[in-house]
Amino acid sequence: MTVVVPVYNEEANLLHFTKAVEEAMNGTGWSYYILFVDDGSTDSSRSILCGLLRGNPHVRACFLSRNYGHQAALTCGLDHADGDAVVTMDGDMQHPPSLLPKLLSFWEQGYDIVQTIRQTTEGVSWFKRLTSRWYYRLLNLISAVPVQPGGSDFRLMDRQAVLAFRQYREQDRFIRGLVGAMGFRQVQVPFVAPERFAGKSKFSLRKMIRFAFDGILGNSILPLRLSFYAGLISLLISFLLLGHVFFESWMGDVVPGWTTIMVCLSFFGGTQLLVLGILGEYLGRVFRQVKGRPIYLIQQIDGCQEEWNGERC
Ligand code: UDP
Ligand code: MG
Repeated sequence: MTVVVPVYNEEANLLHFTKAVEEAMNGTGWSYYILFVDDGSTDSSRSILCGLLRGNPHVRACFLSRNYGHQAALTCGLDHADGDAVVTMDGDMQHPPSLLPKLLSFWEQGYDIVQTIRQTTEGVSWFKRLTSRWYYRLLNLISAVPVQPGGSDFRLMDRQAVLAFRQYREQDRFIRGLVGAMGFRQVQVPFVAPERFAGKSKFSLRKMIRFAFDGILGNSILPLRLSFYAGLISLLISFLLLGHVFFESWMGDVVPGWTTIMVCLSFFGGTQLLVLGILGEYLGRVFRQVKGRPIYLIQQIDGCQEEWNGERC
């Protein structure tokens, strides 16, 4: 089994996390290794990983050439993991390693994807909790992608599911949506996410909003359709207003038209910008996809299956 762990500046968590996975896996009888994907860390994570690589046979690592983000790091891990089952999880202990035997037992029962569902997250603000719940409700409403509220990137995938996942090469990734839509035999396991063991969350509000956009725009064209209807409705209203203006002038009751002009200008200007903005978001995504750039670049692989001819750390 392979445990894929994206790492971005987690120096204070790595050793503790590795030990916790070891403890959890020892009782299961399965052979395993942890594949850390260093997502361009700038703290001492990299040298800690190098130490682990030398001293621990259960540790392998890929080092990306810069910070590509959580989803790209996960993709790199899933591309290079060669276990019969692959678990993806965070390295900050918010995805408890003690749950690994339970995930494995579902896999042994024949499930291809064992998806964990966060019941509550300790120490998370009411704002994050509320917006997260609403967001997943909205996503389920407007797209065909089944993502449960609390769905996270802590899951086990059978080799067959991992191979299927590798066929998705889209740029702006929302992996929980991709996996949700993949089918196979899926089962859900609830868990309570504890607070981070050490360090701070790497997801700022800005990053979270971007990620939320990836989820919606990557899985639904409803915003495009809505913008069409918004345009249609504003056109209709403008016709009604025109009728009103002509009627007033026909009656000879002409008033200085400043208010009407301002209302029209701001209303239709606003609608047009909104529609253009939505188009722009999709266009940007098409642009990125058409360029077909790699989702991540590996600077160095150590302990992975691939041959590496460069310098080892
Ligand atoms: N992470 C990453 N690249 C990034 C941001 C985060 O690899 O650009 C890793 C991070 O090290 C952690 C996991 O992704 O193992 C989840 O990040 P974090 O705990 O900050 O997210 P949160 O739990 O706050 O949503
Ligand atoms: Mg976390």
